[in-house]
Amino acid sequence: MSELAERRAELAANLALVRTRIELACGQAGRDPHEVSLIVVTKYFPASDVRLLLDLGVHHYGENRDQEAGPKCAELRADAPAAPAVSSAPELTMHFIGQLQTNKAGSVARYADVVHTVDRPRLVSALDRGAQAAGRRLRALVQVDLEPERDPNRGGARPEDALTIAEAVDTAAHLELGGVMAVAPLGADPDEAFAALGRVARGIQVRFPSASWVSAGMSGDLEAAVRHGATHLRVGTAILGSRPHLR
Ligand SMILES: *Cc1c(COP(=O)(O)O)cnc(C)c1O
Repeated sequence: MSELAERRAELAANLALVRTRIELACGQAGRDPHEVSLIVVTKYFPASDVRLLLDLGVHHYGENRDQEAGPKCAELRADAPAAPAVSSAPELTMHFIGQLQTNKAGSVARYADVVHTVDRPRLVSALDRGAQAAGRRLRALVQVDLEPERDPNRGGARPEDALTIAEAVDTAAHLELGGVMAVAPLGADPDEAFAALGRVARGIQVRFPSASWVSAGMSGDLEAAVRHGATHLRVGTAILGSRPHLR
């Protein structure tokens, strides 16, 4: 078998395992698996892996660094031009899931379809300006910091500030409020963390019923996320293997 064929087989097997985990978790939670989208996090992995995954039926990709995601996305879209708008079911939907500096917002707005890490008003305005300049509309999720002890270097708005950020996103002309996102704090009980995220999500939905996305759950805790209403799972390692810098 060629190296590429071997990699394809490995990705296909891992993908099947993850899809089975999602189906089982949905079954146990009494949820329809169609309510849960899988975003494959391809950070640190080459565009060749993304091509294999596209061929295996994956359409949602997560990246966390602008300097990597921009060129990778350009390369992939040169293969098969994707529709730029979020709403039109493009072949390749790019989810930006990393901490985003305000000065990178203009760059990310050119290629990302969804930004999961909107956590402060200045970033809302920077993304809105970037989207306008690029002639695009972006979907934005409010990232919520679920750590009880807040560290300003870690991303995420405090739960009590999430609605204010959501309002800012809603009033931005070139952004569409999608919902919320969080990472379970290291060492914390993911069930508790995702239950807390669910409360924030419902608080926002009272005001903005269409903000229905809950981006939560990674390789290690996707079952807990499904139990607490996640609509979008961000899974890297369980599909691609350990990231090159961690090997
Ligand atoms: C890398 C990353 C993931 C994927 O994590 P895995 O444990 O590899 O599945 C999910 N969410 C965010 C925000 C990430 O940075």
